[in-house]
Amino acid sequence: MQVLGEHIDHPSADTIYEEVRKFLPRISLGTVYRNLEIMSESGSILKLETGGSIKRFDPNTHSHPHFRCVKCGSIEDLPFGIDSSMFAGTDEDWIKGRKVQSLHVEYTGLCADCNGNTKS
Ligand SMILES: [Zn+2]
Ligand SMILES: [Zn+2]
Repeated sequence: MQVLGEHIDHPSADTIYEEVRKFLPRISLGTVYRNLEIMSESGSILKLETGGSIKRFDPNTHSHPHFRCVKCGSIEDLPFGIDSSMFAGTDEDWIKGRKVQSLHVEYTGLCADCNGNTKS
């Protein structure tokens, strides 16, 4: 958790494992994976289901939109909030009888670096 809190760039489990190993040299990758799963199930971190095959983890558990670069795979937070509570009390047909618990918004495109690189 401490390691993850220092990462705002949505690290993968492998990246987290490398970091954790610096002060817990005997920890196994399996232990790191297991703890990440437990933490995401308990809601203390977010597991990002992105288009990529690698799972990323996010210490920011408030619903927020992401921007995923299709070229380098970087994931950035976008600075505006989305709030699943905006659906509470809505009685439009599509939401009737349902309870919205979370909302995931992902924009894809080129990050500033990749976009700049393609121009030059
Ligand atoms: Zn990029
Ligand atoms: Zn995020």
